[in-house]
Order: sequence, then C-alpha cells, then structure tokens
Amino acid sequence: MASEDKKKKPAFDCEAASSTVKDLRATFATEKTRSYEWRASQLKSLLKLINDHESDIIDALRSDLSKPAHEAFVSEISMLRSSCEFILKGLKRWMMPEKVKTTITTFPSSAEIVPEPLGVVLVISAWNYPFYLSVDPVIGAIAAGNALVLKPSEIAPATSSLLVKLFGEYLDSSAIKVVEGAVPETSALLEQKWDKIFYTGNGKVGRIVAAAAAKHLTPVALELGGKCPVIVDSDINLTVTARRLIGGKWGLNNGQACVSADHIITTKDFAPKLIDALKLELEQFFGKDPLISEDLSRIVSSNHFAHLSKLLDEDKVSGKIVHGGGRNKDDLKIAPTILLDAPEDSLIMNEEIFGPLLPIVTVDNIEESFSIINSKEKPLAAYLFTNNKTLKGKFVKNVSAGGLLINDIALHLANPNLPFGGVGESGMDAYHGKFSFDTFTHKKAVLYRSFVGDAPARYPPYTPGKLRLLKALLGGDIIGVIRALVGW
Ligand code: NAD
Repeated sequence: MASEDKKKKPAFDCEAASSTVKDLRATFATEKTRSYEWRASQLKSLLKLINDHESDIIDALRSDLSKPAHEAFVSEISMLRSSCEFILKGLKRWMMPEKVKTTITTFPSSAEIVPEPLGVVLVISAWNYPFYLSVDPVIGAIAAGNALVLKPSEIAPATSSLLVKLFGEYLDSSAIKVVEGAVPETSALLEQKWDKIFYTGNGKVGRIVAAAAAKHLTPVALELGGKCPVIVDSDINLTVTARRLIGGKWGLNNGQACVSADHIITTKDFAPKLIDALKLELEQFFGKDPLISEDLSRIVSSNHFAHLSKLLDEDKVSGKIVHGGGRNKDDLKIAPTILLDAPEDSLIMNEEIFGPLLPIVTVDNIEESFSIINSKEKPLAAYLFTNNKTLKGKFVKNVSAGGLLINDIALHLANPNLPFGGVGESGMDAYHGKFSFDTFTHKKAVLYRSFVGDAPARYPPYTPGKLRLLKALLGGDIIGVIRALVGW
C-alpha cells in the first residue's frame, strides 16, 4: 500500500511547486528581469532557439499530431518568429513611462503611467498548437519583465519534453522554468500564489483555473474556445471561398484549432453549390483517399477520436453526412466530413467540434444567421464570406465574438496590431503584439507634486468662503474665483 501511494505521488507536488515559486520570487526580487537588456536578451535567445531547432520542432509536432511540416512551419514556427521580432521592435518604447495630462484638481503637478512587471506568472498551454501556444504567451511574459513557469500540455508529450530541453539550454533558468505534467502537477501549481495565470484550453478547466486564482485574487487570462460559425452568402467568389474554408478547417490541424470553422450557415438555395465546390477542392487538396494524405494531421488521442466518433454516430446525425465520414481508428485519422442540416438538438450542433467534421446549417435568408449566432454563447471567432457591403456592416455591428474576419478564416490572429482573445464563454483578456506586453504588465499611476501651491482652501476649518472658492476653481469659473478670493 505504502509503495502504491509512493507510485501515485506526482513527480512535481505542492512542495516542489511552492519551492519553485519561492526561487522565482527570489530571482524577481534581484530586479534582473526588469531591465530592457535581460528581456531583449531572452527574446533574442528564444529566436535563436527557434532558428537552431526548426527541424526538432517539426519532428516533435509530427510525433504528437502528425502535423504536416508545412503547417508546423506556417502556424507555429513562423508565427513565433514574427511575434518575437514585432515585440523586440516595440519593447523599448513600450517600457517607457507615458506622460499624461493633469487637471486643475491637482495643480501644480505632473503625471505618468509607469509600466511594471506583474512579478511571477504561470502559463498553462494546450496540446493543439503545443509549441506556439506555449511560447507565444511566454514571449509576452518575458517582454513585460516577469519571472515565469510554463506548464505545457501533457497530451503533446514530444513537444512538452522538447520545451523543457530547449528552454533549459537557451533561457535564463533562474527566471524561466518549464514544469511538465498533467492534472496533479497543474493542480500543485494552481495551489500557489501567482501574479497572473495565463491559461489556454477548454472552458471546464478554465473554470478550475479561475477558481484557484480567485483564492489569491490572482488575475487570469483565459484563452478558451467555442463553436466558431462561418456565414457564407451567395455573393462570393465560390472557388476562393471553398479553398479558404478548407484551409481554415482541415488545413488547421485537421480542424483541431480554436479558430477553425466549427460550422457553416448558408441559404438553402446556395448550400448544394457550396457543397459541390468543397468536394471538388477537397479532392484536389487531399486526393481521393484523404485518410492516407500526408497533408492532414491525425486526431490527437484515442479519447478525442472516440469523442468525434460519438458526434458522428449519433442516430439523428449519421444520416446527414453528405461527404466523407471515413475513419481509421488505428491511425487516429478521420477524413474531412461534411454534414447537411444536422438537427439543432444533436451533440454536434451543441458541443465544440474541434476536429474534421463540418456541419452546414441552412436558412431561408442569410440575415437569419445573425440571430442564430447571437442566440448561442459568444464564440472566439465568427466569419462571413460575402461581397455585400451592407451585410458586412450588419455583421460587424450585430455579431459579438472574440474577433471577426470577413472573407477568410483564422488570419486575423496573424495581425499583431489586433488583440487576440475571447469574450464571454470564449474567454477573457487578450494577447499578441503589444497586447501580449500589456497582459503581463501593471500600469502604475504616478502623480508628482512639489511643495508649492499649497491651497489653504483644502484644509479645515471648513468655511463657506473656502467652499465657494473650491466650487469656483473646480467648475473653472474664473470670475467666481476672484470673487471668492476678495470675499464678495
Ligand atoms: P489540454 O487538454 O491540453 O488542457 C489544457 C491545459 O489544462 C493542459 O496544460 C492540461 O494539463 C491542463 N489541465 C487539464 N485538466 C486540468 C485540470 N483538471 N486541472 C488543472 N489543469 C488541467 O487542452 P484542451 O483543453 O483539450 O484544449 C482544447 C480546448 O482549448 C478547446 O476548447 C479549444 O478551443 C481551446 N483552445 C483555445 C485557444 C485560444 O487561443 N483561445 C487555443 C487552443 C485551444
């Protein structure tokens, strides 16, 4: 029994978590992570790590997800390079205090906003983009001058162990640590007091993270998911739309992406044309037998494979497949699958799909899509394909989501000038570009005064004359000020 208990004990328990945080606090207290030089040198080392180990990263992603090298390069490696370079370009400027105006209430004075690191932060990441989703928040945490722990996903073990190895070799291990593990290890980390927790993953665990953080009043960034809808109008370039839809569904880790298309909404009349175009382009992209295509990621685990199979095998859903449906349990492969008008109360229409299944919902009038989307939880992203300017305007005005993109899928997250994050059920807080710096930074308000201009009207004994003077001053009434001063 005793030896069984020993076996169950996580390698990294509460005690280890507590001493890790203590060490990081000691490093943070030395103030070395605050300097521009430290931040820039760590970011440059990260860039070097990525450049030196491109092929190791691609190999790890292939091992974890059969992720095609092309996708690994485009959506993990090159995204991180751009992120690092963008932040390095702006960092010195963002670190400077920002002078702000003062008002009559504080006259004479000067004021500024001083950005300061939050302290010691925890980054918990997910398995689907296991390199990118681990490193990108870390870039923000370093840029903002924090010490940190990264906890990668245990469901992508090759990437997780590569991160431990490479971070150890390239980064300052007194301030940047990687802790591997699953629920027990993450729970031990969550017991500790952090200055911020940045979590990427599903909403169920997001709630566990938020509850743990609340105990210490720790702020959280929750980067969650949801069912990202795509509205397809008939006023479009059909071939380009079909290609972008395929790229934004099956070309994103075979649909296992938070911003991938979850379902399409189009009109009854247009659906057959759209389905034909998708079928044609799918065959061009992945051949006649997509199950053997090297250009499609596999499903991450047998659990997730079983989950997707359950969505597909529900009685009221299995008859709705209009394309695909093939799967291979041994290889964890599922072919691109399109369904038409699966019932509203089916699992597939109510759970985040996060895989290669694409239901199409039909409506009589395309504008009905807005109320369908707004009747559900707010998604991480919502998409519209159209040339119609009025429809675009209505979409932007009426649909609430973490982000909107017109005439493409997922590309909005590649613009570092746009915040990336959810709203409502899809999460809180945002990052990318300067937003990554901001999410790990406290904006400290600083007001400077001297000893001149000490107004007696502030102090007791309070008199009607003093009050008259203050009212006139604060109301910007110069004549009133003069009258109060001369005692009229
Ligand atoms: P996951 O299983 O890798 O879990 C995420 C992290 O939570 C892991 O590090 C894991 O160890 C930890 N974790 C799991 N259970 C826990 C528990 N009980 N207590 C504490 N920690 C726990 O990833 P996932 O959640 O399956 O990821 C898929 C979800 O994430 C989808 O909903 C997707 O939309 C969302 N997602 C969002 C983004 C985004 O940027 N907004 C990106 C990727 C994925």
